[in-house]
Amino acid sequence: MRQQENTVPQNTRCIGLGEEEVTEQEIDTQLRIWSNFVKLQVHTLPENRFVLNPDTPRVRLLAKGVLSNEKNHGLKYCPCRITTGERFLDLKLICPCNFQAQRTWREKGECWCSLFVKANKKE
Ligand code: SF4
Repeated sequence: MRQQENTVPQNTRCIGLGEEEVTEQEIDTQLRIWSNFVKLQVHTLPENRFVLNPDTPRVRLLAKGVLSNEKNHGLKYCPCRITTGERFLDLKLICPCNFQAQRTWREKGECWCSLFVKANKKE
C-alpha cells in the first residue's frame, strides 16, 4: 500500500476524474448526502463535531471525484488518495473514511482532502 504522507496536499488532486461524466445534479445529491451525514452528530461532544468545508467549489470538486470513482472504479473512493487495487485495503479509502483517526485531523482539524473540518476550527 502506498505510504501516506502526513500533510494535506496543497493542491488536492482529484484522481477520480475518469471517463464517465458526473452531472451537476449528481454532485448536488452527493452534497445533500454529506450534509445529512454531518447532521448525524446529535450525540457527539461539541469539541469533536465536524462540518463540511465551507469552500463550496472545493467540496463540489471532491464530490465530482468521489462520484467519478464510483462510476469508474465501483466504489466511492477518496478523491485524493490512490487505491492499491487490493479490495480489502481499499475499503479504508471509501468516503467518508475514518478521518478523525488521521494525523491531519489532529494537527490541522481537517480530513486528508479537507472535505470535513472541525466545527470549532480556528482559521
Ligand atoms: S472523508 Fe476521508 S475519504 Fe472522504 S474526502 Fe476526506 S479523507 Fe477522503
